[in-house]
Amino acid sequence: MSTQLQQPSAVERQLYTAQVLRSIFLSEQTKHLKLAVEDLDEFHFTPGQFVSIKQPKPDGKEHTRAYSIASAPRTNATFDLCLNRVDSGFLSNWLCDLEEGATVKFHGPHGLFTLREPHKDAVFIATGTGIAPIRGMLHWLFERQERNRDHQYWLVFGTRYEHSLYYRDEFEQIVRDNPNFHYVPTLSRGGDRWAGCRGYVQDHVREIVAGRSDMQAYICGLHQMVDANRKLLKEVLGWDRKRIVFERYD
Ligand SMILES: Cc1cc2nc3c(=O)[nH]c(=O)nc-3n(C[C@H](O)[C@H](O)[C@H](O)COP(=O)(O)OP(=O)(O)OC[C@H]3O[C@@H](n4cnc5c(N)ncnc54)[C@H](O)[C@@H]3O)c2cc1C
Repeated sequence: MSTQLQQPSAVERQLYTAQVLRSIFLSEQTKHLKLAVEDLDEFHFTPGQFVSIKQPKPDGKEHTRAYSIASAPRTNATFDLCLNRVDSGFLSNWLCDLEEGATVKFHGPHGLFTLREPHKDAVFIATGTGIAPIRGMLHWLFERQERNRDHQYWLVFGTRYEHSLYYRDEFEQIVRDNPNFHYVPTLSRGGDRWAGCRGYVQDHVREIVAGRSDMQAYICGLHQMVDANRKLLKEVLGWDRKRIVFERYD
């Protein structure tokens, strides 16, 4: 599914309005929003893409920020976002404070952080809200067996604490339904009772891809984590850059 999107110029971009249907806490700092685009029967996008949300500040200056679509395409005009409050950040806090029923303006979908064809065994690597586009990709992949059969998929998801393993139930359900999906939650500050992986995601990625020269990697999150994983795969393990697809949030 390599998408060659034409990015229209700012003047040509169609601006949509979407209403917040649900706003749910995933953790103290993180919200899950479900939105419905007005005046559309279906909102078309490729799993992993983002929308650009526009909102003026009280001084009138317009701010635009990118947010990954956290769901797979549906047969209606709804989509999800997974949002983290950034200290002193304007748009992230504005979005996290929205009440159900409020509206946002956006253009999109945009972006090339999408599944590559032909599909290969793949490792998905995310920290924090970097899980957003990967949640959309994984739901799409595992919605139909013909999309994922014959391949193995790993999700290495890193966060500090167990309570911020966003969408854990959903990923555990995919594991139960699909022997070819492997969920590797990784905590950097796990408590004594945490029996799973600890430390940096790249340490576990290294084990998963050891000896493999035919896999794809999808990486999303803040630049430090993305760069550390790209360095491991490219410089240490000698992967071709085409096998590494990534999105940096900062
Ligand atoms: C393609 C793309 C997709 C994105 N998808 C998501 C998403 O799904 N969910 C999500 O929560 N965010 C996502 N982001 C980040 C988002 O676009 C904003 O950068 C973020 O919400 C901060 O915006 P702000 O207006 O609140 O803060 P700003 O006013 O822009 O920044 C305030 C301060 O925080 C720093 N900062 C900027 N971004 C971040 C960040 N992400 N984390 C920590 N510090 C930061 C800045 O350097 C600045 O010092 C995405 C970014 C990109 C480029």
